[in-house]
Amino acid sequence: MHGKIRIERNPNRKTKPGLEEALGFGRYFTDHMFMMDYEEGSGWQDPRIVPYGPISHDPAAMVFHYGQAVFEGLKAFRTEKDEIVLFRPDQNAKRLNRSCDRLQMPQMDEEFVVDAIRTLVRLDADWVPRKKGSSLYIRPFVIATEAGLGVRASSRYSFVIIMSPVGAYYEEGLQPINILVESHYARAVRGGTGNAKTAGNYAATLKAQALAKEHNCAQVLWLDAIEKMYIEEAGSMNVFFKINGEVVTPSLSGSILEGITRNSIIHLLKEWGIPVSERKISIHDIVEAFENGTLEEAFGTGTAAVVSPIGSLLWNGTLMSINQGNIGELVARLYDTITGIQYGRIEDSNSWMISC
Ligand SMILES: *Cc1c(COP(=O)(O)O)cnc(C)c1O
Repeated sequence: MHGKIRIERNPNRKTKPGLEEALGFGRYFTDHMFMMDYEEGSGWQDPRIVPYGPISHDPAAMVFHYGQAVFEGLKAFRTEKDEIVLFRPDQNAKRLNRSCDRLQMPQMDEEFVVDAIRTLVRLDADWVPRKKGSSLYIRPFVIATEAGLGVRASSRYSFVIIMSPVGAYYEEGLQPINILVESHYARAVRGGTGNAKTAGNYAATLKAQALAKEHNCAQVLWLDAIEKMYIEEAGSMNVFFKINGEVVTPSLSGSILEGITRNSIIHLLKEWGIPVSERKISIHDIVEAFENGTLEEAFGTGTAAVVSPIGSLLWNGTLMSINQGNIGELVARLYDTITGIQYGRIEDSNSWMISC
């Protein structure tokens, strides 16, 4: 729908990080990137894959001033049979359009977006790492490029896809993290942009994140902005709690990002016959479950880590240790299952994996 992708190969291939080097997250980038441009009246045009490199824009480009920027995050995996596969990329394309819609940015053909990702991954296939637990992180994003300081939606945009080989999130296996329940700052509010994957949502969280670090907490758990009572999410992860045998996660209130990992986990739990519900959960429900000993597990979910066991929650000076700070049975099973499907060790009965 947006035309044939033109390919300009990079004549200067970079040296790839060696097997012994820790890849980390988003430190190295592949040889190529995808780009296409939008102009009001003519739509998306000139889809192309070009050598990875700086992009230049007018200093008045609207993205620098009014924050029209949305992004996605997904991964390509090298399976044990040496095939390269993507995890539910159609869902990322859908969500990208929903985010664009919220920020008054133009829509894209979702099949075209998946095709662009697959074409780029195929071209840089030798960048998909082989080390256990590693993958190729894919970052599609859209920015407003029209030069002008009037506050309105831009008439020009760029869609770019870059890719970075990343190491296993947990180099030494799953590690429980400490989380600070944030009672002062807010990430998002109903009616705002919390359910869009937009850059500004992240900018709003960095101060609280830095303060959490001072309390030895890796992440912040956000409460709703109005009553400061209902649990939302961890800012780059959705959250789940296992209370008295039932798994609960906050319902999508409008200020929570609809995670694809979240959706996949709900699906698996239903398949396994484990009771799971999406509903409003207040911090008081969690404190009560902690006090009466029914708070069995807690974990975050997202593309980067898949699942992240929560070892403790710190709320208003009260430290709640969960499962004695150990990795729960359910979170371990979810981790093994999802990574098993991604690396081709477990049958993909839901057709989540798309080959490149
Ligand atoms: C991307 C993101 C998530 C996780 O979504 P996945 O699709 O599972 O990776 C959760 N919360 C926020 C705010 C996010 O931006």
